[in-house]
Amino acid sequence: MQKEDLLSRIRKDIQHVRRQGDPPDRDPASFSRFSCDLCNGTFPKRELRQCSLCGRWACASCWTEKYYTCKACSGVITLRLATEGLGEEETRVHP
Ligand SMILES: [Zn+2]
Ligand SMILES: [Zn+2]
Repeated sequence: MQKEDLLSRIRKDIQHVRRQGDPPDRDPASFSRFSCDLCNGTFPKRELRQCSLCGRWACASCWTEKYYTCKACSGVITLRLATEGLGEEETRVHP
């Protein structure tokens, strides 16, 4: 089974929330903080990272370093890997 096939299937499973490069939502109560798209907490922009799969901005606690995606997408990846019975070490999503 091709790794690219698995990745493209994972991408189809994931809803695209934002375009790559779109900025996070600014917190209306404070001009220097931005919203995490997963937990709705507000953070300085440097603490948010954009997921390369869905485009959501995630704070450190909503981020999965292992896959380099947000937690919502890492859940989809984990499920997909479990379904297909593949080793997890094969999948790291590069932007
Ligand atoms: Zn968060
Ligand atoms: Zn994501």
